[in-house]
Amino acid sequence: MSKGTLRKGELLYEGKAKKVFATDHPDLIIQEFKDDATAFNAQKKGQIHNKGVINNELASHFFQYLETFGIQTHFVEKLSEREMACKRLEIIKIEVVMRNIAAGTLVKRYGFEEGVELPMPITELYLKNDALGDPLINDDHAVVLNLASPEEITFLKQTAWKINAILRQYFLSKGLKLVDFKLEFGRHNGLILLGDEISPDTCRLWDRDTNKKLDKDRFRFDLGEVEDAYCEVRNRVLG
Ligand code: UDP
Repeated sequence: MSKGTLRKGELLYEGKAKKVFATDHPDLIIQEFKDDATAFNAQKKGQIHNKGVINNELASHFFQYLETFGIQTHFVEKLSEREMACKRLEIIKIEVVMRNIAAGTLVKRYGFEEGVELPMPITELYLKNDALGDPLINDDHAVVLNLASPEEITFLKQTAWKINAILRQYFLSKGLKLVDFKLEFGRHNGLILLGDEISPDTCRLWDRDTNKKLDKDRFRFDLGEVEDAYCEVRNRVLG
């Protein structure tokens, strides 16, 4: 597959931060990254200038980096500033969250002090369902809801653990703490592939020395310098 040979087809799905298009290749789709940003289950809406371009660059880079460690992803090729060719997935309706440092709902729900380093990473599963507000679920909920088999859930958790170990080390080498992040997976030709994106929309990233937040929390909580934060991550990671 090379640039120019893939024709963009009908819009299959429009999400909060991306559009997904069919292509003339039955196994491939195109993800188009938008500048739109939402938070708190889309109750807060806005735009972050150039976010789509930066997230496409970063996500393309992280997918390729993870592939070098044997993590299989849906990434095929970066096609343009905002477009990425991906393998078509049957999405597993589970969001896998990995946490290294207490923040966000971990603080709200369990009373951790924000910024406390966890003695081991915490893995959480959420049901991917906006109407229900993406509730926290356990392995049994996932199986009984028919979201995935027990073996698939074990694979998702093991893979998320591996990805965390790889990315945590990588971000640290760029002067960033990987606080927490969310992953999505899907099925493709009998394999489970990492899907969606990895970007400052889906990761909490703090400066290693000052703990300055350099991710979507700046948008969520009106902290200012939102565009600058995305640029800062881009520059640190991609130089
Ligand atoms: N996250 C995400 N999409 C979601 C929910 C969470 O990308 O729908 C990411 C979020 O950016 C953070 C991590 O998952 O890096 C943990 O999020 P948390 O449970 O603290 O919820 P939040 O307060 O971010 O909604």
